[in-house]
Amino acid sequence: MDNSKSFTPLSQLGEFGLISHLTRDFPLRHTSSVKGIGDDAALINIGDQYIVVTTDMLVEGIHFNLVYTPLKYLGYKAVIVNLSDIYAMNAEPRQITVSVAVSSKFSVEMLDEFYSGIRLACDKYGVDLIGGDTTSSLTGFAISITALGIVNKEGVVFRNGANINDLICVSGDLGAAYMGLQLLERERRLFEKEGIKQPDFGGYSYILERQLKPEARKDVVNWFNKAKIKPTAMIDISDGLSSEILHICKNSNKGCRIYQEKIPIAAETTKCAEEFHIHPVTAALNGGEDYELLFTIPLAQYDIVASVPQISIIGHITEAEKGCRLILDSDEEVDIIAQGWNSLKD
Ligand code: ADP
Ligand code: MG
Repeated sequence: MDNSKSFTPLSQLGEFGLISHLTRDFPLRHTSSVKGIGDDAALINIGDQYIVVTTDMLVEGIHFNLVYTPLKYLGYKAVIVNLSDIYAMNAEPRQITVSVAVSSKFSVEMLDEFYSGIRLACDKYGVDLIGGDTTSSLTGFAISITALGIVNKEGVVFRNGANINDLICVSGDLGAAYMGLQLLERERRLFEKEGIKQPDFGGYSYILERQLKPEARKDVVNWFNKAKIKPTAMIDISDGLSSEILHICKNSNKGCRIYQEKIPIAAETTKCAEEFHIHPVTAALNGGEDYELLFTIPLAQYDIVASVPQISIIGHITEAEKGCRLILDSDEEVDIIAQGWNSLKD
């Protein structure tokens, strides 16, 4: 490498800029590569159906802290975050591969614990472990999982199909995993700085479970099938509602209106957010790790979706020129932005 050249910091491009930069000269060669980079998963044509492929990596110190993460839960969560991307294509997961880089501080028993979580997720979601790779690491534990699934060609849902006046819907509730993380981090700091050994989780079991042992929305995809509903666009919420709705809008070339009062937030999330002086809506918009499904459906299907308790209608799709806006409870409107959005902070 020529050291006289000036180097571009990664932060200048950001995550998505970096991905487009690195992958700009890779045209798809095969007609079987139906969808490459740019959705929750790639699609491979195998005749009547598509194979769906997605991969996600979890790195110690970045995605998890072993001080408070039980290895069994970590194994479970590492599978779930991948299955969530398969469901986001309206597909069904079938297989996973699991690759691990392990430091010398690990024992066989620790990896057994980790794999017991992987097994639990495989049993619950009906997927087969079909391979992987095992290597050592000088820095920390790293996990890379690839999930494969299957979907009928007419059933697949992309990020780019939202139409004007479509309803924007979300499953479950948002912001809980983020508040769970704040709680775990607070107790870790108290333990490290003040030697307080007994963590005080004060009855916050729901948000802790959402952070440590999330689920993927298999039930919602099954319900679409039963109710004969096919969303026009869909994405899973891994990076926060703001970031994900912007992906749908950008890919569909549309705008949106989201209503603060409609965003589903569990009572425990609100209580914990207040304790931390974080606006609960900020946790929902920017927190992430919810692994809920965010999707759009035609207005004509309002009645069908409105009757399902685990789905909330939070807004609608507009023309692109109208921008992506959040309507606050005060009736004020603000732009939805992916990161650093803080106008609701106390
Ligand atoms: P998600 O949050 O749904 O897991 P990501 O934001 O991680 O998706 O990735 C967006 C898209 O970019 C996906 O299609 C993914 O496969 C692709 N991608 C991410 N990193 C790379 C990389 N280093 N090389 C090639 N493709 C990548
Ligand atoms: Mg995704």
